Amino acid sequence: MKKKEFKAESKKLLSMMINSIYTNKEIAFRELISNASDAIDKLVYLSATNGELKADTNNLKILIELDKENRTIKITDNGIGMTDVELESNLGTIAKSGSELFKEENSDKKNLEIIGQFGVGFYSSFMISKRVSVLSRKAGVSDAYLWESDGTDGFTITKSEMPNNGTVVTLYLKDNTEDNNYDEYLEDFTISRIVKKYSDYIKYPIQMEVETEKEDEKDKSKKIKVKELKTLNSMVPIWKKNKKDVKEEEYNDFYADKFYDYEKPLKVIKSDVEGLTSYSSLLFIPSHAPYNYYTKDYEKGLMLYSKGVMIMDKCSDLLPDYFSFVKGIVDSEDISLNISRETMQSDKQIKVIARSLETKIKKELVDMLKNERDNYIKFYEAFGEQLKYGIYSSYGMNKEVLQDLLLFYSSRKEKLITLDEYLEDMSDDTIYYASGETIDKIKMLPNVINALNSNKNVLFLTNYLDEFVIKVLGTYKDKKFMNVLSSEFDLSTEEEKENLKKVNEDNKSMLDKMTSILNNQVKNVRFTNKLKDHAVCLTSEGDVSLEMEKVLNAMPNGESVKANKILEINENSKIADKLKELYASNSEELEKYTKILYNQARLIEGLSVENPTELTSLICEIMAK
Ligand code: ADP
Repeated sequence: MKKKEFKAESKKLLSMMINSIYTNKEIAFRELISNASDAIDKLVYLSATNGELKADTNNLKILIELDKENRTIKITDNGIGMTDVELESNLGTIAKSGSELFKEENSDKKNLEIIGQFGVGFYSSFMISKRVSVLSRKAGVSDAYLWESDGTDGFTITKSEMPNNGTVVTLYLKDNTEDNNYDEYLEDFTISRIVKKYSDYIKYPIQMEVETEKEDEKDKSKKIKVKELKTLNSMVPIWKKNKKDVKEEEYNDFYADKFYDYEKPLKVIKSDVEGLTSYSSLLFIPSHAPYNYYTKDYEKGLMLYSKGVMIMDKCSDLLPDYFSFVKGIVDSEDISLNISRETMQSDKQIKVIARSLETKIKKELVDMLKNERDNYIKFYEAFGEQLKYGIYSSYGMNKEVLQDLLLFYSSRKEKLITLDEYLEDMSDDTIYYASGETIDKIKMLPNVINALNSNKNVLFLTNYLDEFVIKVLGTYKDKKFMNVLSSEFDLSTEEEKENLKKVNEDNKSMLDKMTSILNNQVKNVRFTNKLKDHAVCLTSEGDVSLEMEKVLNAMPNGESVKANKILEINENSKIADKLKELYASNSEELEKYTKILYNQARLIEGLSVENPTELTSLICEIMAK
């Protein structure tokens, strides 16, 4: 028997790992099962390529045996196996890349966390075991060897016996402590759960004797417990199957099961990409937003698998924020099992896959938009806000990807349309819009009525983000946007403009007086020729519209941002004459009228009245006359 020391750096790494820096002990099983599966892969490959190797490849499997009495767990594979030399070199040093990284980092205590970043591999078994033995016989060789170690300072290798090729890893579980109950790994339901979670799609059967209840043959009313050998994993992942071989219900069941959604998805997106980075993916677009979707608690991400092994259950780097609603799975043989959250961000393959997925998702959404409008509207109702936020929060950087996915209600079509559809049916060279709380309320606004009477197609914006998005877009395919509720919107002829200018000049002192009565609440009071049946309206000038003021002021911690308001009075209304009369004779009354008119205009716009008591008493005073 030879007793060997572990390599120095391996030793340090081991003790750190064992002292539970890496807290997720379950992954030891993932690592051992993945090694067993690799060993079987190698055997299959060699027997296919090396004519001399005579190995049985018929009954390939991984067996797990739990022994409660002796507190051991055995994981057996009938794969390639290892010689004594291989046992020493493979299990005597921690994966080279790992130890090198460790050497660079270990001078600094805070970097202990880094351990979670490299593959813990076979050594992770010491997180739950006080001793590990590996009995192995290489395929095509008759000798077997037993490697044993307590994981602290070294290992021994002794000659042994084994009936066929393969490897048996035996874990001698650690003693239970106050914090850790290692006995739980001796329960078949715990192991079934762990295998299902991390190794469900290993392509070889992972079997274990599981206790189940059965009817007693003799006495049917009784149940007896029997042990049955069961395959714990489902082996062929649904995303690896050809789309035509999978029924829609199967995808829907899988979706419900994995992502806990009771409603079936709106769209299933399956792709297989071969290239420098190859991957299979199965993505789902949910039909409704999860209850916490628009909160900080929602975590985006896709499940990431490599060779049937789950690496991460929410890999956020695979999805841009604006597509954070997408659920699904990505499986790529080109991703290393050792990848971690920290190394993920800079991983080239992950970036390539993420870019390719983004293109694919966009394409599917565009297809849905064109060919399944009802479904798209359902999608948009659930996640449209996220797309808008994607444009707004990136200051327009993502607008090329997202702008043609937007929908707005068109006054002319009386339904949601895309900006492209607006361009196909334009009134002139401008995209008109008006925003408000609801479509019905927008329709009632005097300026909107005006625009509609002039046969303009007006987009009615009812989502609080809409107008911000429009501002960030600036233009769409070189067409500019115009708010029909802003003072900029003016349909009058040159002659009408001239006349109006004159009216305003002639009444300048009265209008200035009214502006000062309103005490900086408005930038200006002026006459307008835009209104037909209404006496007053409020418009805005500059970057912040009235609707934006409402939204900004409703936000928690939102600053109090004000729109530059203009109180416009219909020059042809009776009230215009009345105002002129009062200005000449009764400045006290003029003040009352001005205040009432301003508040009426605010009400029409859906803005609140700042002093309702004052307003109602003013109205009463005038009514009582
Ligand atoms: P990794 O799997 O990342 O290479 P591990 O520490 O898990 O690192 O394993 C080290 C090596 O030991 C493997 O690369 C493999 O060559 C060998 N090995 C581990 N388990 C088995 C097994 N069950 N059968 C054959 N070889 C094995």
